[in-house]
Amino acid sequence: MTTAASPASSFTVEVDLDAIASNVAALRSRVGAAQVMAVVKADAYGHGLVPAARAAQRGGAAALGVAQLAEAITARDAGIEGPLLTWLYAPGADVAGALDRGIEVTISSRWQLDAVLDTAWASGRAAPVHLKVDTGLARGGALLDGAASAWHDLVAAVAPLVAEGVLDVRGIWQHFVYADAPDHPTVRHQQEVYTEAVAIARRAGIDPGLQHIANSAATLTNPSSYLDMVRPGVAVYGLSPVPDLGSPQDYGLREAMRVTARLALVKRVRAGQGVSYAHLWHCPRDTVIGLVPMGYADGLPRTASNGAPVQRPDGTHTPIAGRVCMDQIMIDLGPDFAGAAGDEVVLIGRGDRGEPTAQDWAEAAGTINYEIVTRMAPRAPRTYVGEGAP
Ligand SMILES: *Cc1c(COP(=O)(O)O)cnc(C)c1O
Repeated sequence: MTTAASPASSFTVEVDLDAIASNVAALRSRVGAAQVMAVVKADAYGHGLVPAARAAQRGGAAALGVAQLAEAITARDAGIEGPLLTWLYAPGADVAGALDRGIEVTISSRWQLDAVLDTAWASGRAAPVHLKVDTGLARGGALLDGAASAWHDLVAAVAPLVAEGVLDVRGIWQHFVYADAPDHPTVRHQQEVYTEAVAIARRAGIDPGLQHIANSAATLTNPSSYLDMVRPGVAVYGLSPVPDLGSPQDYGLREAMRVTARLALVKRVRAGQGVSYAHLWHCPRDTVIGLVPMGYADGLPRTASNGAPVQRPDGTHTPIAGRVCMDQIMIDLGPDFAGAAGDEVVLIGRGDRGEPTAQDWAEAAGTINYEIVTRMAPRAPRTYVGEGAP
């Protein structure tokens, strides 16, 4: 099933739901008996929360993960069922609303434990929670950094509540500093600290539930990190978190996002003509330039000026000519261009089809592929292809 692009839009962000499902299936077979929690935070890295979540479940994701508690509530209220974990919220967040919806809430600290308990006592049901240990990232989690750590305190507070049936610990987890550098010494060290954290919880009488520590990079490079469940995000969308080690195709993944635009204008200009703000690019010869109606307001990084590749209608690639503007970019179509306004160009597509990729854009813009897709076209509706397309 294919959903047609809105005729009004001059560019299209197309998301291939079959690619998402098949990427999850590929990740599942990679991790053997471990489960996959597909991370669908940040509107599924720009791919659209609800359709992407359903596609991930179709591919065999046993659970879904989002950062913000509000995203979890949005997903539930849109009809997304099954285990759903959140790990980011500040005082005042609707923890009660999350627990009422059966959302699993991560506890990293005493105040979060208290926020969960307020609801758990009142509801009379065991609140489903995951405990997060900080093994060295120094971001979320209770730090385990010695014999009398915040982790020890959290475990001591949680254990009697588990025994009383107030809390249901579904998992204990951590997050890596350097998963994209599998040989970095912190990787091994964090795994050792994590093992110790689980042992401390067990000694206090807490069954740790699902042990999960691996993001995409660990899932693709570090089998010792699989444990009971892995938590890939970017790989679900067909991007490699370790582009220096392997391409999506090397890992059996397929890019799910494809961004195309129609030329709004084409014009002949003379050699030496400067193009776009500040004339950062000059025509090396008489040529035809084309106006692509997308800019930084649509998520194209301004740092990709004079660099990121665009596929011309004839299939060849050309770098953006000059500066990325708010709403538009220019490209050099070449002196022999015989097409017209309305012809399609590809900004981001699939590497195995010879199209420019999010990774190419990341390299041109000095960032990572995650940021390219996640920030893509906030003002443009997504178009879905594949089974289950809305
Ligand atoms: C974003 C995130 C992930 C997924 O990371 P990827 O690198 O995209 O696989 C996993 N766990 C946590 C805690 C995250 O914040």
